[in-house]
Amino acid sequence: MTAEIIDGKKIALEIQTELKLRISRLQAKGISPKLITILVGEDPASLSYLRGITRTCSETGVTTDCARLPSAATQQDLLGKIAELNRDQSVHGILLFLPLPKHLNAIEAESTISPAKDVDGTNPISTGKLLLGEDTFFPSTPYGVQELLVRSGHAPEGKHVVIVGRSNIVGKPLAGILLQRKPGANATVTVCHTGTKNLPEITQLADILVAAVGKARAITADMVREGTVVIDVGVNFVPDPVTGKNKQVGDVDFDAVKEKAAAITPVPGGTGAVTSIMLMVNTVRAAEESSK
Ligand code: NAP
Repeated sequence: MTAEIIDGKKIALEIQTELKLRISRLQAKGISPKLITILVGEDPASLSYLRGITRTCSETGVTTDCARLPSAATQQDLLGKIAELNRDQSVHGILLFLPLPKHLNAIEAESTISPAKDVDGTNPISTGKLLLGEDTFFPSTPYGVQELLVRSGHAPEGKHVVIVGRSNIVGKPLAGILLQRKPGANATVTVCHTGTKNLPEITQLADILVAAVGKARAITADMVREGTVVIDVGVNFVPDPVTGKNKQVGDVDFDAVKEKAAAITPVPGGTGAVTSIMLMVNTVRAAEESSK
């Protein structure tokens, strides 16, 4: 069996088209959705994510800017910037890039982002609401995984979803989202990590297997049952023996696993393509709610 390839770019475009309509309705009321990111220092991965967000904002019609603070900024400087953006009524969404320089306290900073503007769902209030099944903003990567599953016809309802990885930005919130007793969720969820014994035995029980491991090609074909839907969240760079340059690969051994899976996301072009657009979804929703 060769797997159906789940096209993240196509799904992202579909969502973008829907958003453009919602944005034009807001603009007719004089509201322009606005996302402000905060970057402390020069972390290269954050700078790359910033470029992606800026591009998606411009393609979608969301106004954006980045508040840059020097790496020597104090916690007070950071909290002051967040407070200023919380007060600014023209700002609908705030995203703080992590990691912060080591002398800064990320959780304290995230806790001060207004929940109404917390479009990446990182304020512990948003995290708690997610677990309680209350209305809140979901972090964009796990939200994108849910959207990919639903829009590609592999809705998680009643399925056994095995997630490999329990980070606070991917594995844990994804488990919380898919556990909810709601349409597009209501799955049986197992979360695996480095303390999990007999990992391949557990991954083979999955109807839907999500890899958020952070290690290139960690999920091998022997870990996957025939007919599983495989979602690869991983972004890793490895040397390409043909070109000698680095190339992007996921946490799944794509070439081998696609021969067993029913459906699989590629890297690039799978989950990564949807993450930034989910941030736009949340920002537009924040703007809509601010207008009520
Ligand atoms: P992370 O913070 O490094 O977490 C990795 C998780 O995988 C941890 O829970 C770790 O377990 C677990 N793990 C690592 N090796 C394992 C093994 N051999 N067996 C079982 N579990 C193992 O990574 P992350 O931030 O969640 O990111 C995961 C991947 O997604 C990365 O490749 C990252 O680049 C990518 N990512 C993609 C997007 C996107 O938009 N597509 C967004 C964010 C991240 P322990 O908790 O026990 O250490």
